Amino acid sequence: AYNFSAGPAVLPEPVLRQVQAELLEWRDERASVMEVSHRGKAFVECAAEAERDLRELMAVPDDYHVLFLQGGATTLSALLALNLARADQTADFVLTGHWGEKALDNMKPSLQVNVAASGKAGGYTGIPPRGDWALTPGAAFLHYTPNETIHGVEFHDIPDAGDVPLVADVSSNFLSAPLDVSRFGVLYGGAQKNLGPSGLAIAIVRKDLLGRHGRELPPIFELLNQAKNDSMFNTPPTFAWYVLGLVLKWLRAEGGAAAMGERNRRKAANLYAAIDGSGGFYRNPVDPAARSWMNVPFFLPDEAREKAFLKEADAAGLLGLKGHRAVGGIRASIYNAMPEAGVQALVDFMADFARRNG
Ligand code: PLP
Repeated sequence: AYNFSAGPAVLPEPVLRQVQAELLEWRDERASVMEVSHRGKAFVECAAEAERDLRELMAVPDDYHVLFLQGGATTLSALLALNLARADQTADFVLTGHWGEKALDNMKPSLQVNVAASGKAGGYTGIPPRGDWALTPGAAFLHYTPNETIHGVEFHDIPDAGDVPLVADVSSNFLSAPLDVSRFGVLYGGAQKNLGPSGLAIAIVRKDLLGRHGRELPPIFELLNQAKNDSMFNTPPTFAWYVLGLVLKWLRAEGGAAAMGERNRRKAANLYAAIDGSGGFYRNPVDPAARSWMNVPFFLPDEAREKAFLKEADAAGLLGLKGHRAVGGIRASIYNAMPEAGVQALVDFMADFARRNG
């Protein structure tokens, strides 16, 4: 079966097999990775290896912290608001879907916010034209969501915010293609979807941005404390961190971000061509310039046929295609772990279904 679920996680099969093989006895520990101390040599090495691999795969410059945290992207957005700005500073937001709105809600209690642009009026089917963004001069940061998982809207370039640090939630497009980390103040996201099981969130933070917020924070909310303690200020999610490490090794073996980007571009092109070439049977409402390579929502002529599509697809081994309840329809999530053969199987199924039901 091919898993088109939006997550929590969709992981490469070889990684899942390795986890299964090592579950009872990990390395030379005679115990499971879940049972050994996070301060012991074996786990500390495993954690450091994952950080090294992530830094190498994303070419993270030395002046960035890489933090491994808990609470998902949602908690992290709230922590970033507390850590990156004083309460009287303004953060700008560009909203292109549900998750940008949610980040705004989580950040709003901790600083001043300005919605510089929003695609809401257009049903989140594109990126508001750059010329219309009402940016705040000297803002603490500009927050946006490079890939909106539910609406299927993705930036294929990096917006220019001048000297204002960009803070980007890359939960659903982490390492899906090469990205110039040095253009960002912060890249963050839940590790689930592209990088590992849920339970782990990752923040790549330019070092000079931390410790300037002027607030008294509980020590556990102070990201500098995590940075100073190699993300082990408290017990980290060790199992998720270990699986992340395996996914990163798989990514390296597959050719890294460049190879992923090429593969993901081909996968998306194949699927959108099937939608656009269906004579209107399938329909994706997103501006072609902003179509996501990771999450592809589409609709059939009516709900009855969508229901039949989902049922037959599942029986054919094409899983997890139901659209998010906020937008309905179908959604094919085609993260890094989805092979090209999986997308081809979906495309073939779509053609056959349209022939029989058009
Ligand atoms: N941001 C994006 C882009 C997402 O896709 C998701 C989850 O799907 C989230 C944030 C929420 O992440 P979490 O559940 O880890 O808080």
